[in-house]
Amino acid sequence: MVSAAAPRKFTARLGTAKRLRKSEVPPSDVAVAICNQCGDRFLIARNPTIVNVQILDKHLLFLQEQFVWDHIQENKHRSSIRLPE
Ligand SMILES: [Zn+2]
Repeated sequence: MVSAAAPRKFTARLGTAKRLRKSEVPPSDVAVAICNQCGDRFLIARNPTIVNVQILDKHLLFLQEQFVWDHIQENKHRSSIRLPE
């Protein structure tokens, strides 16, 4: 029996990373940044014009730094994080 529920679209606005709920399972073809300290996961918006792996690496590194800062400052991670250009 196949579920009739429509597949949920994993979209985030370009240039932002969007926090995933614990139960959400992202498709394998999107980039996800994971906080090492609390396990929160952030989906990085796919930009079809960006095929540059270096930009993706930059965004992943940026998010890791944000995660560390949030924990140092005891802030909760925001539900969406603006990514650098
Ligand atoms: Zn965290």
